[in-house]
Amino acid sequence: MRLPAVPRLSQRNYAIAKLACVAVGVLVVVLLTSLETTSALLAAARSAAGLDSPMLTLLFRGILALGFAALLLWAVKTLWLRLSSQPDRPPVIGKGDLDVAAGSGITSLPGFRKRLEALTRSVQTGAVDLVNGLISIGFSLQASDIHISPAREDAEVKLRVHGNLYRLGTIPDRLYPLVVRRIKILSGLAVFRQGIPQDGQMRFQDRAYTARVSVFPTSNGERMAIRLATAYARIMDLENVGMPEEMLLDYRALLNRGQGMIVVTGPTGSGKSTTMFASLLHIQKTRGDSANIVTLEDPIETSFRRFQQTQVGRSTNLTFSSGLRSVLRQDPDVIMLGEIRDEETASIAVRAAMTGHLILTTVHANSTAGVFDRLVQMGVDPAQLSSTVHAVISQRLCRRLCPSCRREAELTAEHRRQLELLGVEEMPEGPFYEADGCEKCLERGFTGRVALFEMLRMTDPLRDLISAGTPAHRLREAAVEDGMVTLLGHGLSLARRGEVSVMEVARVVSD
Ligand SMILES: [Zn+2]
Repeated sequence: MRLPAVPRLSQRNYAIAKLACVAVGVLVVVLLTSLETTSALLAAARSAAGLDSPMLTLLFRGILALGFAALLLWAVKTLWLRLSSQPDRPPVIGKGDLDVAAGSGITSLPGFRKRLEALTRSVQTGAVDLVNGLISIGFSLQASDIHISPAREDAEVKLRVHGNLYRLGTIPDRLYPLVVRRIKILSGLAVFRQGIPQDGQMRFQDRAYTARVSVFPTSNGERMAIRLATAYARIMDLENVGMPEEMLLDYRALLNRGQGMIVVTGPTGSGKSTTMFASLLHIQKTRGDSANIVTLEDPIETSFRRFQQTQVGRSTNLTFSSGLRSVLRQDPDVIMLGEIRDEETASIAVRAAMTGHLILTTVHANSTAGVFDRLVQMGVDPAQLSSTVHAVISQRLCRRLCPSCRREAELTAEHRRQLELLGVEEMPEGPFYEADGCEKCLERGFTGRVALFEMLRMTDPLRDLISAGTPAHRLREAAVEDGMVTLLGHGLSLARRGEVSVMEVARVVSD
């Protein structure tokens, strides 16, 4: 179907249309009064309404002209929207609209670049096909986000896959407003409002897909960010999240405990949820039906069929603290608590962890040892803390070196400096690796990601230090002396195996 070239219904275009309609309205009234039959009719209507004075006549004509203009404007607007929106397509992405090649991986990006180019070049392509195509490409490449940013000539499309941003191509100026419009319709957003940020959720017939849409005004037009997720995603097995073997053995033993608290920390997007759900899955597998598992999350990023998940936060009447207090009456054995960020939640969580519940949660802190400081700041008694927390895990995500083009490399002066800044006194023995990029990794040198872990496991000496209010850096030193493998240590062992580069480890560990 060919799209008519309809200009965008912007504030400016709408203002011009308003003026034009008023002008036509005035013209029509002038025309009506100049014709003999209609002017006689109008005069009769005026005298019947008692409007015979010259001023009132003028007012009457004015009202007539404005009324006509309003009617005309309504007709123009309706027609305009019909022409530019292809309203015959429903505001939902149907099952047959998506063409998703499952698990194709990032290596096929060039093919998808050609596909977008072919789509935008064809005059047959309408906004509906283009949006369906973009969403299909996003899901095919397992992208987490699609970014569409308008520039002067066209709009640029980028995809985020495994944390890296890739340029997919452009959408020409003539199609962009229509694409924005279509995405807004799909997400239930106000199509007319262009100067304000808006958030929505795309509708899919196939419940397996979800897409959160954010629209943001810029001087070139509206910028769109679409976050893609597949509902009912597979939960990763604990064995596959990337923990060092010994840590995994320890951690599995801790997950068997009937009560207490396990805290995961790390920046946004460091894979904390993946670890937490892998842990819940492990508990479910080992304890079977005897474990009653609940989650409190803000927001629920991915729905899993296996678990009873509860949304707390802005869009609900529940907060973490009120949700936790209520869910404790549901007799849970294991509670996954999205985050502890206030005193009330912290105190209820610690109490629950001392009374027969295993709590998995996250706390925002710089390091494993820093979590205790943070919780003490939230009013938790250090002695209680030391007796309830079994372990604190810190994690980061590194970009994995491309196995096709990685090569051995010496530590350069820059590497040594970076490591020195991170407190490494003795330079580690290589070999280390780097990658220059090849066709398979799109010249980036990276494919996929790998996690770095550090686990501070509670021991009696550490318990004493925490009860005595020892500062985080002293606690950390004690844990390292006790044999704790640090994030840097795990990173360097991965670097020696060629999984990651030293620079990448230094980059993520210094966060
Ligand atoms: Zn490569």
